[in-house]
Amino acid sequence: MGEHREIVVVGGGPVGACAAYYLATGGASVTLLEKEAEVCPPVSGAHANCGLLVPGDVEPLASPGALGKGLRWMRDSSSPFYIAPRPSPDLVRWLWLFRAAATKARARAAAPVLRALHVASASLHDELARDHGERWMFHHDGIVQAYEGSAAMAQACEEAEVARGFGVRAEVLAESEVRKRFPGMRGAVAGGIFFPEDGHLDPTLFTRAVAGLTAAAGADVRRGAEAIALEPEAGGVRVVTTRGNIVAGQVVLAAGAWTPALTRGLGLRLPIEPAKGYSVDVERPADFPELPLYLGDARCVLTPLGDALRLGSTLELSGWDMTIRRKRVAWLRNAGERVMGIPADGPVRQIWRGPRPVTPDGLPVIGRVPGRERVIVASGHCMLGLSLGPVTGQLVAELAGGAQPSLDLAPLSPGRFRA
Ligand SMILES: Cc1cc2nc3c(=O)[nH]c(=O)nc-3n(C[C@H](O)[C@H](O)[C@H](O)COP(=O)(O)OP(=O)(O)OC[C@H]3O[C@@H](n4cnc5c(N)ncnc54)[C@H](O)[C@@H]3O)c2cc1C
Repeated sequence: MGEHREIVVVGGGPVGACAAYYLATGGASVTLLEKEAEVCPPVSGAHANCGLLVPGDVEPLASPGALGKGLRWMRDSSSPFYIAPRPSPDLVRWLWLFRAAATKARARAAAPVLRALHVASASLHDELARDHGERWMFHHDGIVQAYEGSAAMAQACEEAEVARGFGVRAEVLAESEVRKRFPGMRGAVAGGIFFPEDGHLDPTLFTRAVAGLTAAAGADVRRGAEAIALEPEAGGVRVVTTRGNIVAGQVVLAAGAWTPALTRGLGLRLPIEPAKGYSVDVERPADFPELPLYLGDARCVLTPLGDALRLGSTLELSGWDMTIRRKRVAWLRNAGERVMGIPADGPVRQIWRGPRPVTPDGLPVIGRVPGRERVIVASGHCMLGLSLGPVTGQLVAELAGGAQPSLDLAPLSPGRFRA
């Protein structure tokens, strides 16, 4: 027994909020469940992420050389990509699948899939921002990737050339052009790449505003309600929650890195690992422009958000250990000091960490659970959940409504890891 809804969406991150938005504005009766007291809570993967919209990012995490770097850095917990050694069958399986996906051929096959998702999502972001963008500090003016060393710059130029082959706009900048855009830059810089299609926004403001628009469209946005299990029910699925049961015609699982805990009971073992990332908010220097800067050598992003500057990134596979490692915070702050002269021991507004839902092949999981056709998975967005939230939401709405999805979902299918 329980109340009845057409569709229940589990997870109030950017992906769940966008799915609920496109479902509700399409006329479905929707309940959005978020286990925490607020949508996009501090424990989520998006709360204080770097806020970048990156349609130019077509290289999946599983690219040639990535595993080698991860293994090399394994003993250095301050490095930008760290795998904490631990006896976990899930991690072993994930690494095995990652190794298989980290080939040139697989990365080249994933790039057009990511690009198609990005292009569609960027235009939906523009559409959402047209009326509401000021509410989430939306800017669509590009980002700059800068490189301190000339070898790293040469490699970035090669990668930009590959990205151009997939339709990405990428402009090589000389050292002087980088410094002109970032007058406060102090450290060495060999050059940079400008990605004019990219943008940035505040992830918490965006997600909460989209949830608000979803409620305004008639959806029931329920906070503090955790989905515990999904059970079969005649003509639907019973969603057992900490605040009563709901019988839904269809369920969308958009619980980020928590999603595998819910699909396991459905017989689907999804290889999604929580990959911890960090951010540090400091006061924005007066001369820092309204343009995000990615420091390629340090793998650190600097995003202006109002009067704050967010230094973020690093990737740590430590399971659900969400301890804040001070060495990793120091890594970000040292990069900010070295390149921009922001004192590494100066005042901090906020230190945050959160779990990215990472798949071993770097592609999200969007589609129906094999054998459980009433359940749709929308998760595994790795480092791209904010960028790809809108297109994922739209694809979920198309699927749930019985329409032909506007993009090919075969490469994103939840069953693809079974073989
Ligand atoms: C440091 C860092 C920087 C990043 N920078 C960027 C960036 O610049 N651009 C970009 O596009 N992406 C970025 N990402 C990645 C992005 O944040 C993730 O891809 C995104 O958060 C995934 O969104 P999601 O909605 O799937 O999951 P989440 O954001 O993790 O949201 C999942 C939600 O589901 C809720 N939930 C979980 N289980 C249940 C349950 N059983 N019942 C009810 N609710 C539940 C959680 O509380 C959470 O609120 C970054 C991530 C990190 C960590």
